[in-house]
Amino acid sequence: MGKKVTDEQPRVYFDCSKCPAFCCSVYERVQVTKRDLNRLAKYFELTPEAAQKRYTKIDRSSGDRVLRRKKDVIFEQACMFLNQETRGCTIYHARPGVCREYPDRSRCAYYDLLKFERRQQDDQTVLPLVQITFREVEKKTVHDENSSERIWEWKGKV
Ligand code: SF4
Ligand code: SF4
Repeated sequence: MGKKVTDEQPRVYFDCSKCPAFCCSVYERVQVTKRDLNRLAKYFELTPEAAQKRYTKIDRSSGDRVLRRKKDVIFEQACMFLNQETRGCTIYHARPGVCREYPDRSRCAYYDLLKFERRQQDDQTVLPLVQITFREVEKKTVHDENSSERIWEWKGKV
């Protein structure tokens, strides 16, 4: 008898092998913790200091330590560990925790977008290009003569 699927059971609606690795490309920041760094160092048989210098950098906007990136053949940039031909991770067993957890739910928004556009365009070779950039926002109150309104605004407008 087949396994009964209930709402509590995770159902996976994406297939990374059919995706050009959006998640390894569109995010500018892939966070690296101390634990991730030790794992990377062990994998490459380096000291954590050497691994930190070679594979990571500090992201200027968040102050987080992140993986370095490089020019990509499909997207503008991608993680330095992405194999640009196979679109697979070259350090799969040593990848950071955030990569292990992603997308942390049964659906992947990029995979849905990919499937949607391919169906919409009736073309299985179409590739929607997206880039995600995060900026901080703050809520402000703006006034005119008769009323006031709460609006969202970019912090330190760019
Ligand atoms: S974007 Fe989604 S489907 Fe594509 S590789 Fe990442 S997790 Fe998999
Ligand atoms: S470490 Fe691997 S899984 Fe994580 S972003 Fe880079 S290529 Fe993708």
